[in-house]
Amino acid sequence: MSCGSSNHFVSPLVDFHVHSTFSPDADDTIDAMCEAAARAGLREICFTDHVDFEPRDESHGYLRFDAYQAAVEQAATKWQGVLEVRVGVEADYQTWYTGQVREFLAGRRLDFVLGSVHWVDSLSTTGEIFDRYGLEEACRRYFENVLGLARSGLYDSLAHLDFIKRYAFERCGALPLEAFSDEIETILRAIIERGTALEINTSGLRHPVRETLPGVETLRLYRRLGGELITLGSDAHRTRDMGFAIPQAIELARSLGFRNVTVFRNRKPEFVNIA
Ligand SMILES: [Zn+2]
Ligand SMILES: [Zn+2]
Repeated sequence: MSCGSSNHFVSPLVDFHVHSTFSPDADDTIDAMCEAAARAGLREICFTDHVDFEPRDESHGYLRFDAYQAAVEQAATKWQGVLEVRVGVEADYQTWYTGQVREFLAGRRLDFVLGSVHWVDSLSTTGEIFDRYGLEEACRRYFENVLGLARSGLYDSLAHLDFIKRYAFERCGALPLEAFSDEIETILRAIIERGTALEINTSGLRHPVRETLPGVETLRLYRRLGGELITLGSDAHRTRDMGFAIPQAIELARSLGFRNVTVFRNRKPEFVNIA
């Protein structure tokens, strides 16, 4: 697009992974988050409050879905013309509750469903899993569950693919993810085949691991395998992280040859040009 052309510039700043006080681990209301997004110059955000099926998770049974949906829709009306506001969920996955996820999603009106592995064998991936299995076996089981998620076809985007590295790093430094390159490739092939997108989650950039989730090598591999659907998420749980490092994530995607990022409406992908 040349300067001075009649095409008007459409900002690619979108954040499709943000939480509000409808999640137990978030601090700020939907309206406060929208205000922060408008202030940060974002054009579109999607709330993805937690739906967890693991009984040990503090989010289990927490989301009052109807009130949540109504509150997001009210915000969408209020912010119309300034900020597009979408309603989604971050729905947790373990292989043993695929049926519960399917049941929850059936018939619900949502723009976007993000899939995450936060628990493995009912052990938290933030710590317990390493105590029980040790690093290598913990990673193996973690990626096995991510593969289950990828193959389920229930989600619009796979969140923070190598989430486990954020917590492993805090215990023992950088994970040698090369050891799991076959598992990661299988996961990527599964999402490409099913039309599920891959998230670039920027939360790692504000934690000691200092990398996006997944990291650049996994994103490069996804691209090489023919992957085209990238969603962007700051995983903000408070106003100060709204839109965090989204410009860097866009730059990273662009540098790897992606020409668009993906947003979702009524669970259908739409493309935002970043080329
Ligand atoms: Zn998550
Ligand atoms: Zn999240």
